[in-house]
Amino acid sequence: MYRGSFAIVDHQALTRNVKVIRSYLGSAKRLLISVKANGYGHGSLEVAKTVLSAGATDLGVASLEEALTLREAGITAPILIFGYTSPRAACVAAEYDVSVTVGDDWTKQDVPDFAKPLKVHLKYETGMNRLGFTSQETLFEMVRWLEGRNDVTWEGLFTHLACADGDQDDHSRRQIGRFEELLHELRRRNYAMPLLHASNSAGTLRNAEWHYDLVRVGIAAYGYAPSLEMDIPVNLEPALNLYGFVTRVSEIEAGETVGYGATFVARQKTRIATVPVGYADGYPRSLSNCGYAFIRGQKAKVIGNVCMDQLMLDITNINGVKLGDCVTLYGHYAPNTWHAEKFHELAETSRQTDWLREGFFDQGKQNPVLSLDELAFLGHTISYELMCALSPRIPRLHVR
Ligand SMILES: *Cc1c(COP(=O)(O)O)cnc(C)c1O
Repeated sequence: MYRGSFAIVDHQALTRNVKVIRSYLGSAKRLLISVKANGYGHGSLEVAKTVLSAGATDLGVASLEEALTLREAGITAPILIFGYTSPRAACVAAEYDVSVTVGDDWTKQDVPDFAKPLKVHLKYETGMNRLGFTSQETLFEMVRWLEGRNDVTWEGLFTHLACADGDQDDHSRRQIGRFEELLHELRRRNYAMPLLHASNSAGTLRNAEWHYDLVRVGIAAYGYAPSLEMDIPVNLEPALNLYGFVTRVSEIEAGETVGYGATFVARQKTRIATVPVGYADGYPRSLSNCGYAFIRGQKAKVIGNVCMDQLMLDITNINGVKLGDCVTLYGHYAPNTWHAEKFHELAETSRQTDWLREGFFDQGKQNPVLSLDELAFLGHTISYELMCALSPRIPRLHVR
């Protein structure tokens, strides 16, 4: 906290989002929350605990490493690895009771015996063209192989939608159609159906017919819509807030420049605030000269190139900005009362998050939000990427 930049992870928002998504579910009895990539930057273990107590039943991760981090911290809920796991790595998954996705043909590979039963979700390719069985026949072969092994349990069968967040449904409908054809064949052959799933956040919020037995929700739990094209039927609340305290206020004359490469040239006398957040913290360089932040409830443009560790804002039209004022990089606008001095004092004397809850929820939460969607749009990316980019260098204050 000495540096003066920090993120607040709002667990009340996470809880509310999970509850509202839960209440929206149709057939799905299980709600898996995706906590890959360090819980979309929020902190995977902290998010996992909160979403599980808010009603999530399962967790999703990208890799075995991510799953082990959760298991080693004592998380016992079902965990599914979405990404590729090799048969060799699957031994470790089995040992830690982590479910793996299999989308390639193990019948022709060297698969070791598992000391504990391995739980497998078969993935079927329907239009994403990334991972999954590309034909019904190879999938059926795999099912027969699974049935012949008593150290492997067929736990799930799923697919993944590529365009559920678009403005048209046709691609998703084609994908669901292919998935249904597969299910039809399986039923015809009298297989007992495992857990079926197809929907990410977009699919979940788009069409209840795509919910099946479980939905895999990521971005919506963190409070954002999957895309700008999509109207979402529920109210979500962003959980991630990024702040920095002003480290200098200065003034330049017309003709002077700001930052590396001198990409900003002042047309008039310009006042500048420096903030200790840069691209190494996950604030993208693509927001150079086009992003903006909020100080004292007012908009301040990013001027010059975003540096690795710092950025500069134009505060010419904002009165009274001084050293230590709190700048909102994204999330709920910081209350005007937030100041580095007071912050450090209270952080030292009280239990940090108690003070934050009072200070933040009483004041900041009434304020509007500088949306990651807005910044992502300006920076030619998506909210997902900005969340995941938030570096370990930024302390996360978990407010519950
Ligand atoms: C990341 C991921 C999800 C979650 O996607 P969101 O768009 O964040 O809801 C669901 N399923 C799979 C296979 C994923 O990789």
